[in-house]
Amino acid sequence: MARRKKIYEGKAKILYEGPEPGTYVQYFKDDATAFNAEKKAVIEGKGVLNNRLSEFFMTGLNTIGVPTHFLKRLNMREQLIRQVEIIPLEVIVRNFAAGSIAKRLGLEEGAALPRPIVEFSYKEDSLGDPLVTEEYIIAFGWASQQDLDDMIALALRVNDFLAGVMYGVGIKLIDFKIEIGRVYEGDFMRLVVADEISPDSCRLWDVKTGQKLDKDVFRRDLGNLTDAYTEVAKRLGVMPSNVTHATKPTLIN
Ligand code: 5GP
Repeated sequence: MARRKKIYEGKAKILYEGPEPGTYVQYFKDDATAFNAEKKAVIEGKGVLNNRLSEFFMTGLNTIGVPTHFLKRLNMREQLIRQVEIIPLEVIVRNFAAGSIAKRLGLEEGAALPRPIVEFSYKEDSLGDPLVTEEYIIAFGWASQQDLDDMIALALRVNDFLAGVMYGVGIKLIDFKIEIGRVYEGDFMRLVVADEISPDSCRLWDVKTGQKLDKDVFRRDLGNLTDAYTEVAKRLGVMPSNVTHATKPTLIN
């Protein structure tokens, strides 16, 4: 059997050529990295959970008319996606202060922001994904003014959807990052949500206790990451509630 062609390998995912033109297969690894890959670990089960959770969020977005690259889940770790031209920006939406904005502006973690704030980082690991202004984006030609307006509108729709879905299961959406890609259809180009939406790229706090259920658990050594992601998956009903993570193959009599 011919080996399939690897298109790109990132920190948490691998992209392979898809079965049909215009498609890719996105494979979710168990690798976790933080602080621009200075901290690394393999966390058993993370890839399976993120594949499921990203499927759940992307399917929901597609259903309410927010276009995404997601086509279908193929198996435990892989999903079929549309090939898109990724805009080299991380689009971040914040509802409450945390992480880099809390540090930059001296805000208290968890403080409500006056309104959702959309910000952009230039996707370049060697520079640590620096924050950029809209002026930079247009001047360097990463996106046009129209694209920028469309990206902000798309990001805010994703925010409303995710915040609502999360609140419904007792989770506060503090912030998240998405990536956006271009899809060409004849003479038209449209922007779609790409990459992944998972607890790797969101901050999720339990509404009542404030417990962190996202990658900060790994970044800050707050406990078991798989348990945190499993809790999110269970609450959303994307995994049966009695799932346990066997660390080794188990013989069943
Ligand atoms: P911050 O700028 O506060 O570090 O991150 C804001 C939000 O975007 C957080 O939810 C964080 O997880 C997400 N985020 C920022 N940069 C990255 C990145 O390079 N990869 C991933 N997966 N998420 C990111």
